[in-house]
Amino acid sequence: MINTLNIIPLKSWLKETPEPLIISGPCSAESEEQLMSTARQLKQFTNVRIFRAGIWKPRSRANMFEGVGEIGLHWLNNIKKETGLLTTVEVAKPHHVEACLKNGIDILWIGARTSVNPFSIQELAEALKGVDIPVMIKNPVTPDIQLWLGVIERINLSGIKKIIAIHRGFNTYSKSAYRNDPLWEIPIELKSICPNLPVICDPSHIAGNKKLLLPVAQKALDLAMDGLIIESHINPVKALTDAKQQITPKELQLLLDQLIYRTLTCEDKNFILNIDHFRAEIDLIDAELINILSKRMDVVKKIGKYKKQHNITILQLDRWKNILNSRIEQAKKLGINTDFLLKLLQLVHKESIQIQTEIMSEQNISNTK
Ligand code: PEP
Ligand code: MN
Repeated sequence: MINTLNIIPLKSWLKETPEPLIISGPCSAESEEQLMSTARQLKQFTNVRIFRAGIWKPRSRANMFEGVGEIGLHWLNNIKKETGLLTTVEVAKPHHVEACLKNGIDILWIGARTSVNPFSIQELAEALKGVDIPVMIKNPVTPDIQLWLGVIERINLSGIKKIIAIHRGFNTYSKSAYRNDPLWEIPIELKSICPNLPVICDPSHIAGNKKLLLPVAQKALDLAMDGLIIESHINPVKALTDAKQQITPKELQLLLDQLIYRTLTCEDKNFILNIDHFRAEIDLIDAELINILSKRMDVVKKIGKYKKQHNITILQLDRWKNILNSRIEQAKKLGINTDFLLKLLQLVHKESIQIQTEIMSEQNISNTK
């Protein structure tokens, strides 16, 4: 299904845009003055091309600022006229789409709270039928790649071909330094399933504070993401929403200056030669690793059969604890991350139990004969 995604490359519809693509503007439109002064400074200090602002704000609790509504669309239009910045607004309802289309908004985005709900997405998809407007799609708040892919598919099936995915992190209940856990493996998987889909990162909603914006943005660039969307406000401490994570346009430029911009590859013959050499080394080690795993699983089978003969349980808790302790000790000595090793051992143990379970159930079938 996903193979049939019909996406127009970013460069062909967003011409003359510096790479990576940088989108900025306040979390929420609050007044025309606040929008205009932010936009003017973005124009003056940065090479931001697209100006974001939330007009309808999804708030967790009742009686909070829920956005200025349609009047904000007129303000955005004035900003576009004066600065030439393209404008983007979050839409959650068909009537938001209609209002944006009527008021000349350039790009729509679907928020993380909307993309969790296939009913809402279907309604938006219906409203977008026959319309040619770019749509940016934030990941759903839950770490479910199928749900994210589903939104992209539904919007694409409605005829929208200019799509950008936005990685804004995921809700988790575990304690974390982030407001929303980045779970980088999910956008990486999205990119490998849909290689022609542009994916940008939203460090503001991942970090939730100013301090983590730089490392998150750097990591996104190091993972070859196509751009960044970062919230900026003329006076962040006074912001009506997401005050902790917003920065001034000047601070944005400072951040962009501190980032290291890397390329996907390079032409240097020496570099190509050396990297090929390193990769050949990795190929050999991986082959060895797979051989060793296969040997280990052979022994696991042998042990399974032996346990079966003697009616011994598969799970041997003391042995498992010994394995964990001794291997983690060894990993520490070798400077391997112990969290990583723990996950790897758990995976190997799970597979070993599965193999021995199959051996035991073979015995049960023959016992019933
Ligand atoms: C936002 O961009 O201001 C916003 C509401 O983001 P998210 O949908 O990622 O929570
Ligand atoms: Mn926000």
